[in-house]
Amino acid sequence: MRLVLLLLCGVAGLAAQTFDVIHKKPHWPNGQGRIHISEEAIAFEARKEKNSRSWSYTDIQHFDRVSKSEFVILSYEDQKWKLGRDREFRFVISSGELTDDLMETISRRLGKPVTNRVVGEVAAQYELPVKHLHTFGGCEGRLLFTNDAVYYSTEHAADAREWKLARDVRAVSSVDPYLLEIRVFENNRRDFSRTGVYRFQLKESLDPEWYRALKLRLYDLRAGQSVIP
Ligand SMILES: [Zn+2]
Repeated sequence: MRLVLLLLCGVAGLAAQTFDVIHKKPHWPNGQGRIHISEEAIAFEARKEKNSRSWSYTDIQHFDRVSKSEFVILSYEDQKWKLGRDREFRFVISSGELTDDLMETISRRLGKPVTNRVVGEVAAQYELPVKHLHTFGGCEGRLLFTNDAVYYSTEHAADAREWKLARDVRAVSSVDPYLLEIRVFENNRRDFSRTGVYRFQLKESLDPEWYRALKLRLYDLRAGQSVIP
């Protein structure tokens, strides 16, 4: 752990940020400790040394910002008692918060899609009242569009999302003006049953001009990538 802390202190860029956290464990007593987030790594310093971890960003499979005070790291670590299922670590912050700036840094260092369930004030250029369709029923809210992102704002906090077009959105499709499907690269095992497809019933018809412009922007963004869906 001492080595990790030394490394964190020596890194330029983001000053390492430290939070007191509770490590939530579904079948075991919760743990306590501190999280250190820097440009180099995310490290958990547990009260019990054997529970401490340090993940370089390449060792993080997925990062899920559940709220400003809660996040989940999906590691590549096997859990033998769960037949090798990758282990996830859920932390609740008890001092400070995971700000937008810090989330931006984590996302940039990860360099891959993330789950961000915090939707703040958005200066939307276009918006639609919608119902998000679940297997049974759904939740209601608004889709907010800016030039570089789509947001789903809803009181059903677990489903609120920020999707950056360049980072998270695979494709959009609309088979009729009252239906919009957003396919995302979200590799979030906890929402795996949804397979990254979000279907929205639109309470107002989709503006064809806006939709066309959105598709073209996505084609442009995807054109440079080697894998074309
Ligand atoms: Zn929903």
